[in-house]
This record gives sequence, structure tokens and C-alpha cells, in this order.
Amino acid sequence: MAAVASIAERLAAVRGRIVSAARRAGRDPATVRLVAVSKGHPPDRIADAAAAGCVDIGENYVQELLRKAEALADLPLRWHLIGPLQRNKARHVVGRISLLHTLDSPELAAELEKRAAARSVTLDVLCQVNVAGEAQKSGVAPAGLLSLLDALRETPHLSVRGLTTIPPLADDPEASRPHFRTLRELRDDMARRDSALELPELSMGMSADLEVAIEEGATLVRVGTAIFGERAPKEHAA
Ligand SMILES: *Cc1c(COP(=O)(O)O)cnc(C)c1O
Repeated sequence: MAAVASIAERLAAVRGRIVSAARRAGRDPATVRLVAVSKGHPPDRIADAAAAGCVDIGENYVQELLRKAEALADLPLRWHLIGPLQRNKARHVVGRISLLHTLDSPELAAELEKRAAARSVTLDVLCQVNVAGEAQKSGVAPAGLLSLLDALRETPHLSVRGLTTIPPLADDPEASRPHFRTLRELRDDMARRDSALELPELSMGMSADLEVAIEEGATLVRVGTAIFGERAPKEHAA
């Protein structure tokens, strides 16, 4: 059971980091939820994480998420889709995931709305914002967020809970700070414009920069490598 111990130990270390960062920032550690990102790792590793108390599991690819969710259907897990979602796959995730972190267009919102309405379910979503304006990265531009949120007024089966960002890759965790701060400020700005809009969740921070994210207000940190170890080479493209 060495693998179990090692995941449990890694998890304990990650939880320790979360608690310390939250305390340092004067926040209640319970306001930060850990999403264990299991892409590239087999279901039995996720079961190990679940045995060590993990409930929220993040995957990047729809088919991989569905396959693992089915294999682990007996466990009380909440599945998060944290990778880009193509419109033609929207129907596969409605009713199957707990939270979509990557809503980035009114067209995708409309498709999800249609599918959720047909099944009479509500889907919780976060809007992904391309804060740094990187060319290849998905996410709505900051300037387009307002109109995306406006479009979400017309989608009663989607519940927008907050914002997500993935900052540019960097060696220094501090390099992420301005991007995390921008996301929080965007959220505050949007909430000020419309008091009915709460946007309590900020999904930001990964293995390398979760402390900085928590200091800047993250409520969901997406942590893969620090829990599961290095990933095998990517199975398939998004
Ligand atoms: C893979 C991934 C993570 C986890 O990254 P680690 O550096 O392994 O913690 C978080 N968020 C997204 C969107 C990812 O694709």
C-alpha cells in the first residue's frame, strides 16, 4: 500500500500549504477548496486520493473524465471539468459534472443551456478569463467578460458561480500574482455593476503557485502534480 501512503502524504502536504497560506492571508482555510487534478493518472490513483479524503476531482478532457467517473461511480466524488469544452461535447457533460471551470463564449453557454434545459438540471459554471491575453490560451478576454455575463442572464439552467484563470507559465510563483489579482479585481468590478451577481468562486492556483493564489483570494485551487506526481505523456489532444 505504498502508493496509498504516498498520495495520502502528498495530500497532507498540500493541505498544509493551503492552511498556512490561508492563515497568512487572514483567511479561513475552509474557504479554499482543493480540486485534485488527475489527468493522465488512472482511476485507482483517484481512489487512493478519495480514500485520503479528496472529494473534488478535476479533469481536462471530456472523454477521460467520463471514463474515470464511470469507473469510480461508487465513490462520492464531484467532477470538475477544467479543460476547454467544445460545443459538440456539451451534451456529454451536462448532468455529469459538478462544475465547469471553462465557460468562455455565449455560444457554448447557449448550447449548455439547451442541454441542461432538456434534462431539467442546472449546471454550475465559472467563466474562464484569459487575463494575460495570451494568443493560444482559451478564455474570454477581460473586455468580453461583461457581455458573456450578460448572455448568462438568458440561461436559467446555468448558474454562474465565479471566474477561472490560468496565468502564463513561469518559474517564479510570484509572476502569477498580478494575473490572480486582476481576476479578483475583475470579479469585484462585475459584482459592483450588478448586485444580483455574486461570483463567490475564484478558481486559480496550481501546484507551483497555490499560495500566491490563496493570498489573492482563490476559493478553488487546482492541484495535480503535487498530489499525483508527474504525469505520463499526454494521452490525446483536447
Ligand atoms: C493540469 C492542470 C492543473 C494542475 O496543474 P499542476 O501544475 O499539475 O498542479 C490545473 N489547472 C489546469 C487547467 C490544468 O490543465
